[in-house]
Amino acid sequence: MEFLPLNKWIPNLKKPLVIAGPCSAETEEQILTTAHALKNIEDVRILRAGVWKPRTRPGTFEGVGTKALAWMAKAKEETGLLTCVEVATPSHVEKALEFGIDILWIGARTSVNPFAVQEIADSLKGTNIPIMVKNPINADLSLWMGAIERIHNAGINKLAAIHRGFSTLDEPRYRNRPFWRIPIELKHKLPGLPVICDPSHIAGDRNLIAEVSQKAMDVDMDGLMIETHPNPDAAWSDAKQQVTPSSLSDIVGGLSLRTEFSPNRGFESALEGLRDQIDRVDNILLESLKSRMEIVEKIGAAKSSNDVTPLQIHRMEKMMKSRLEIAKQLGLPEKYVKEIYEIIHVESVKRQTQIMNTFQTDKESE
Ligand code: PEP
Ligand code: MN
Repeated sequence: MEFLPLNKWIPNLKKPLVIAGPCSAETEEQILTTAHALKNIEDVRILRAGVWKPRTRPGTFEGVGTKALAWMAKAKEETGLLTCVEVATPSHVEKALEFGIDILWIGARTSVNPFAVQEIADSLKGTNIPIMVKNPINADLSLWMGAIERIHNAGINKLAAIHRGFSTLDEPRYRNRPFWRIPIELKHKLPGLPVICDPSHIAGDRNLIAEVSQKAMDVDMDGLMIETHPNPDAAWSDAKQQVTPSSLSDIVGGLSLRTEFSPNRGFESALEGLRDQIDRVDNILLESLKSRMEIVEKIGAAKSSNDVTPLQIHRMEKMMKSRLEIAKQLGLPEKYVKEIYEIIHVESVKRQTQIMNTFQTDKESE
């Protein structure tokens, strides 16, 4: 899949691209007030708002609908910000296009459903309007990639992914678990695809948005989508996670942006030297693991000849205790060393079992 770089479809792009605006469009005044406050924040290029809201329970606020599209168009005219809204059906697409909305996003409750994504994709044919695809609510990278592929197959190359975290039952800290390895893997699998982080829906709490945003920058994401409201506590949806435009400005201003390469040659060569050292240490580590495994194999053969089980729990406990003592003396974290030794031990027992089974089969066939 080929993607048009972000700077080819977002004029005057700076890193990070910031998309901000309320969870939901509520009133014309709220949209215009937000847009005017946002236009003064340098990195904000796009105004977002939910017009049709996918709510968990019926009877809660489900968005003001089509009339908000006219407010978005007015906000764009007055501030020059680009506009973006969530679409979940072909009729949403049709209405958003009619009102000249610049960018559409597919929400997490829609990207989870291939039928719905395909219908949207079909309705986009011939438009090449930029589309951002949020990750599906469950942690399934293929499903996310499938949604992106369906939109790409409809002839859209102005595409971005939005990482908004994954719904699980066990997360005490965040509303949706980030599982950073998933968006990182997405970047590897679809090179050139811009990935934007939505810290608001990950955090679910405005006090955690700065830390999630920083993490997104540290893993080299291209932008942030942050829910912003003039009076967050009074918001009609997602009140706890929205921030004021002035907090948004602090959050964005407080980010430390690291780049993959530094123009400082001294630093780059020092880094290369340290990486060489790491490579050497890793070689020694791997050689040691190989020697260890060879000894394990000898033990397996000896145990087999003497009818002793591969797993001897006392030996395991004694070994773990002594390794943890050494680790402590060396100043290594106990949990880290314990986890490594558990993996090493499982693999050793597995190898011994394999050897004993081979011995057994040989004996039987004799
Ligand atoms: C939203 O952006 O307000 C929204 C509904 O997001 P998500 O699809 O990520 O839940
Ligand atoms: Mn929201």
